[in-house]
Amino acid sequence: MEDINSFNIDRFEKMIDGARRIAIVTHMKPDGDAIGSCTALYHYLKACGKSGVKIILNDRHPAYLDFLADSIPTSDLIISAELPQEAHILLKDSDLILCLDFNAFHRTDSLEQALAESKADKILIDHHLNPKREDFDLVFSETDISSASELLYSVLIETRRIAHDPSALPPMSATALMTGMTTDTNNFANSTFPSTLKMASALLTTGVDRDYILMRLYNQYSENRIRLMGHVLKDLMTVTDDGVAYIILDRKTMDDYDIKEGDTEGFVNIPLSIDRVRMSFLLKEDEGKVRVSIRSKRGTSANRCAVRYFNGGGHENAAGGKLHIPEDIKGMEDAAEYIETHTHIFLKEENGDKE
Ligand code: 5GP
Ligand code: MN
Repeated sequence: MEDINSFNIDRFEKMIDGARRIAIVTHMKPDGDAIGSCTALYHYLKACGKSGVKIILNDRHPAYLDFLADSIPTSDLIISAELPQEAHILLKDSDLILCLDFNAFHRTDSLEQALAESKADKILIDHHLNPKREDFDLVFSETDISSASELLYSVLIETRRIAHDPSALPPMSATALMTGMTTDTNNFANSTFPSTLKMASALLTTGVDRDYILMRLYNQYSENRIRLMGHVLKDLMTVTDDGVAYIILDRKTMDDYDIKEGDTEGFVNIPLSIDRVRMSFLLKEDEGKVRVSIRSKRGTSANRCAVRYFNGGGHENAAGGKLHIPEDIKGMEDAAEYIETHTHIFLKEENGDKE
């Protein structure tokens, strides 16, 4: 963790001390790690006595994360999709912007321009590959870590306020950090490092209620999600001879099951449990594009595939991107062929690279 050193921690604390208006931002379509790290940092800053702290999101979090977001006063949680002007002005007028769980401004979608134009100091705390370091005044970047939440924990624990005593974290910060780590590791199924288990142990010791977090995350899905999952696994999942599994969800299918944001969370992981599957894709129809989630087994790079053929990126074994309509594919009906053709080329290239 090269970026976590006394010089950078000192700068982190000084930037916070010197700021009056602080904005916290994260990537579009925020997931558990995004909302977890934002919520944790918000409560830490409040405990530091900061009054003007706002979390600014491109779009609203999925309902299963309400238990975190409900801890933020509504006046401090601004959704740019609902109040674009306010979000823009708040970012423009901030003294300090803390950027969590993304590696480049465009990952915030509608906030990109305001971030680029803002004169505020910007701090990045992120665990993705290839962060755009030059866009930030202070960078905490680490990829051998479970989540942005774990990285934030590692930063906060070094501050004078917390001073290596996790029980000094506000309880809601501790809960939110545990939540973000849990969702990004799929409940300790992947990206779990010795430091991850150490953090989990330390947070449990402070009294974090993990049973409650797991209940909120995994036992409160809609019935329709489970019924769609049945339909997907029986009728909508294809596995190619290359060992590529893909699932295509068009708008009509999602409407038929009344699927909300977050309801398809985890679908992309399921086909990876098949022995011959090396990579798994979930494609979801969106306005003018298809959103793509990619997961891979060790030895196959979801990240490189996302960068090369899906206008995206992410982590080695968990990445994402998009296909634009009509630039990449004419319509949803061409999505299957695009996946089959391009993953075939990709896997051949990768094998070639290794030879
Ligand atoms: P998910 O499949 O859960 O949406 O995303 C998996 C990972 O890929 C996340 O770490 C996410 O940040 C990254 N990712 C998802 N979509 C994109 C994208 O469009 N561009 C880039 N650069 N990364 C993405
Ligand atoms: Mn993350």
